[in-house]
Amino acid sequence: MEKQNTTKDPVFVSGIALHTGARAGLKILPGEANTGIVFRRVDLPDKPEVRALAQNVVDVRRGTTIASGNASVVTVEHVMAALHAGQIDNAVVEMDGFEPPILDGSALPYYEMVKNAGKVEQDAPARYIAPKAPIFLEFRGTKMAIFPCDKFKIDCITSFGETVLDTQYFELEITEQSFAEELASARTFVQFRDLKQLLAMGLVKGGSLDNAAILHEGAIICKEGLRFSNEIVRHKMLDIVGDMYLTGHRVKGHIIAVKPGHPTNVQLAGEILKQYM
Ligand SMILES: [Zn+2]
Repeated sequence: MEKQNTTKDPVFVSGIALHTGARAGLKILPGEANTGIVFRRVDLPDKPEVRALAQNVVDVRRGTTIASGNASVVTVEHVMAALHAGQIDNAVVEMDGFEPPILDGSALPYYEMVKNAGKVEQDAPARYIAPKAPIFLEFRGTKMAIFPCDKFKIDCITSFGETVLDTQYFELEITEQSFAEELASARTFVQFRDLKQLLAMGLVKGGSLDNAAILHEGAIICKEGLRFSNEIVRHKMLDIVGDMYLTGHRVKGHIIAVKPGHPTNVQLAGEILKQYM
């Protein structure tokens, strides 16, 4: 029988936090069997913890924020994607602030961390979750569905109407290898008009072309060129892999996502869990 895994060695990364622009550190430590992914705020008194579960999501506007009591953690999706794809069922993610380092805006540095940590099998069966029946969601311009399937597959379409390059389609069966090769390094991006608003709100102080691509008037502005011709849709799929791990289980199912975003990703994770309540 397939077993749960945790990480072997402690691993640490630090870098600039996207919104505060401050230095942020993140450590991944082994977790006990059946405890799932737990974020721990070591900068707060008594080091409070937040379990990475859909019911603890409190904000989905610019990333996925989880909270419990006075402890919150924003933008958990990239590290969650790396843990989901790396089949790490249990881990403690220690943070010295509410925001993880944005690094290069992709999940690759986090995936490399998980690989560097190594993997230890635990004496408990692996936990998978699959929808019992199809689920359909619609919210603003987003449509999302998940169908029962014995694999984890995503078909995704993005379109922002800013550039001919931003209508993109990609489909992938998600395995550790396909995630590492096809999704992990796809960077986050922002629309220029949103960027102006975010800056006016005092956010994205740590944002730069080192950690995001910008869509502006028909162009994609980024450093070192695009990593994939359809990097945007691949990043959206990476976010889905991360947000679906808020089910607390490795996911099986075939997801069809049209213009996805965190609100519907998290809602979909919650709807699958509801089928088991
Ligand atoms: Zn993202």
